[in-house]
Amino acid sequence: MNKRASALEKMRQQEFDIAIIGGGITGAGVARDAASRGLKVALVEAADFASGTSSRSSKLIHGGIRYLENLEFHLVFEALSERQRLFEMAPHLVHPLRFLLPVYEGGRVPAWKMGLGMMAYDALSLYEAPELSEFLDVQEVHQEFPALETQLLEGAFAYYDAYMDDDRLVLETLRSACSHGAVVANYVKATGAQLANQRVTSLECEDQLTHTKFTLTARHFVSTVGPWTDLLGQKLFRDWKKMLRPSKGVHLTFSKSRFQLHDAVVMAAESRIVFAIPRHEMVIVGTTDTDYPGDPAEVRAEEDDVRYILKVIDRYFPGAKITRKDIIGCYAGVRPLIDDGAATESKTSREHLIWTDPRAVTFVAGGKYTTYRNMAQQTVEEVLSYFSLEERARWAHGQTLEPLNPLVSENLLERARSEARRWAEDWQLPESVTIALAERHGLEAEKIIEQALPVRARCKDPEEWMWCAEALHAITHTMCLSLTDFYLRRTHLILAREDHGLTFVPAIAQVMGERLGWDGKRQNDEINALQNQLNWELHATLSR
Ligand SMILES: Cc1cc2nc3c(=O)[nH]c(=O)nc-3n(C[C@H](O)[C@H](O)[C@H](O)COP(=O)(O)OP(=O)(O)OC[C@H]3O[C@@H](n4cnc5c(N)ncnc54)[C@H](O)[C@@H]3O)c2cc1C
Repeated sequence: MNKRASALEKMRQQEFDIAIIGGGITGAGVARDAASRGLKVALVEAADFASGTSSRSSKLIHGGIRYLENLEFHLVFEALSERQRLFEMAPHLVHPLRFLLPVYEGGRVPAWKMGLGMMAYDALSLYEAPELSEFLDVQEVHQEFPALETQLLEGAFAYYDAYMDDDRLVLETLRSACSHGAVVANYVKATGAQLANQRVTSLECEDQLTHTKFTLTARHFVSTVGPWTDLLGQKLFRDWKKMLRPSKGVHLTFSKSRFQLHDAVVMAAESRIVFAIPRHEMVIVGTTDTDYPGDPAEVRAEEDDVRYILKVIDRYFPGAKITRKDIIGCYAGVRPLIDDGAATESKTSREHLIWTDPRAVTFVAGGKYTTYRNMAQQTVEEVLSYFSLEERARWAHGQTLEPLNPLVSENLLERARSEARRWAEDWQLPESVTIALAERHGLEAEKIIEQALPVRARCKDPEEWMWCAEALHAITHTMCLSLTDFYLRRTHLILAREDHGLTFVPAIAQVMGERLGWDGKRQNDEINALQNQLNWELHATLSR
């Protein structure tokens, strides 16, 4: 990724073809698509990259079995095709996962209908899922999931989807955009627009770190601010009409040793579904779906959300005896849903909408992570329709099917796994550490290890050193500027570890401080800021 200071300099001085507002997955996708076609692209993000909805999802790349019920086959087909592409483009971030869909007598959807749905799901994936769906009888289900409720159980369907690292997907997409020439900066907020001849000609921006103001000039502007769309729209245009019906979704996290699951389980709760998702490092359970009219930056899990999810777990896994004492972490996000007048929040369409204001601003909102690449492509095509024919021809093709990180294609990931054994020998590191780095970064792990060798002696153990290595990498390649941003969006420490990874704080703060020029006071401020953020985000679950 480019350096922030030089990005700001360029933003002040140059004129761009497009300027993108918002650095979540949608903005990152648009930046990568446009820059890979050859457009001159700038992107500003008001806080840290991915700090909005894009680090607060269920972290699934999925076709969306629930759309089958409404016969929305086109949506499922599009999502399953994108799932396959993401397996190829980002094998270090997107991992196949088996799901179990239990069938209970008297359930809302009868078994025969689910069976038809599963057949459709396989067909719509063009039979490219890691494994095709199958039906398990009660005994097989009980063997695999002894804690699952068996009363009235008729069996379960097993099928495949995928889990992912949502925040890192944004960061890698932005890195790729930068490698194609995009200029990006976090902590820059778009606060207004300057117009000439009924067109927006530049954005008024404020650097959130220094509070200095500047204008960003471009020929066309793209809003990818997700749940902030109405707030930004009001700042840009006095005649803005409200577009969104934002909805809040909460997740709880558990340790894998306490909530033992081989596969993900789909649980039916009233009119929606809640997933229990085992991953490498933790189990995530969620989500809720409630209207959220407040400020998206202020969203967090509340007591009612926690109770709701625990109730669903207890209904499906009475034998597991999961209580609030077992919760490790929680997080909440806001879905930027388009208001389609539906009766309830869960019935509101998840489809995205792209529309252009004639004053040279294209807006995109709604949709899913899974289909971000398509959504970005459609957005850029919409933008290009406002450019000349000659330019449209020149910028007709992007390169968004290439691996996100050239050092982590499927083959290279395999090579990194075997290289990891050599790295362990060469540098006398535990294999568990070098393999973990290889799984997360492919062949790039070698550079990450080398860069962090000088700080090794001062770390209390190899795991602590690994997180210091991650911190150095985050600073160099992902514009990570604070301890909080590192903990929240470059690692899973807060959500996955009982101690939220706080045991590593002194070492990580010191390593980051040396690289970023923090004095002792600043280091303490960083540690306090992280603790305050943690207390705020986890307030509904910390009193366990
Ligand atoms: C609970 C939940 C679970 C989900 N689970 C899944 C899932 O498992 N799979 C899936 O496919 N999809 C899922 N989704 C949907 C998916 O997460 C979202 O569609 C996607 O993250 C939206 O990304 P975005 O970039 O549009 O918005 P955001 O990620 O919110 O990004 C918008 C960015 O704009 C910035 N911004 C706002 N105002 C300004 C300004 N004035 N200037 C500059 N920047 C600004 C914000 O800081 C923010 O970072 C889920 C959503 C939720 C809420």
